[in-house]
Amino acid sequence: MIKKLKENKFLVFVVLIYIGLFAINGEKAALSVKNSGYYIKEMLTIMPVVFLLTALIDTWIPQETIMDYLGDESGLKGSFISIFLGSISAGPIYAAFPVCKTLIKKGASISNIVVILSSWAVIKIPMLANEAKFLSPRFMAVRWVLTTIGIIIMGYIVSKMVKKEDIPMGGEKVEDGKVLIKEEYCIGCGVCVKLAPEYFKIENNKAIVMDNDDYIGKKANVIKAEEKCPTKAIEIGRVRGSKVDICKEIIEEG
Ligand code: SF4
Repeated sequence: MIKKLKENKFLVFVVLIYIGLFAINGEKAALSVKNSGYYIKEMLTIMPVVFLLTALIDTWIPQETIMDYLGDESGLKGSFISIFLGSISAGPIYAAFPVCKTLIKKGASISNIVVILSSWAVIKIPMLANEAKFLSPRFMAVRWVLTTIGIIIMGYIVSKMVKKEDIPMGGEKVEDGKVLIKEEYCIGCGVCVKLAPEYFKIENNKAIVMDNDDYIGKKANVIKAEEKCPTKAIEIGRVRGSKVDICKEIIEEG
């Protein structure tokens, strides 16, 4: 019971606020419950479609394609594709979060995700048509250009402050002192095999670890492979200290 409450602490917090609200002002609290009910109903109608869309992206769009068009190396091309994707998307912004998480999982960069989310929120195409009608085409065009520039700059700044490792992805956890290859991220490029042929090999277009019983996190080549893996598919479970500590140990070892 306590465990369940801990797992759902945000929900518990909201329920407590409602209880407090009912004690202070029953009428406003009832109105608030009614509004929440409306949004929950809206979410229940939208989210199944969103989950279907994420499953389709996950299954049908190859990781290489996402990385090529939306990945870290996609540059301005990636920014413009992200603006386009965000602008043509329909539905409320909360529908964008699961889609964006799937895109990150498949190799999209943080900056492009910021651009997609921001475009989704503020520069949808039907909204632009209404803006031009009510506030003039000139107003709409100037706002669109400045917003687009602002969104791209914001994406760059966020990508410097938030890393992919900061985003919870779920899935397998790596044990201390072992190396895990997240199969769903691996594109079989072979960079890890080139850098640490004593640990990695490619099988069925995916990298695998040959011997995981060693204190592998200490080995310089594996750390290099982890750093150079283009999709961040390699994770090292470190036994002692941070990566910096381990690198120091390696330097000391010569
Ligand atoms: S470098 Fe990364 S993506 Fe490439 S084969 Fe190795 S684990 Fe897979």
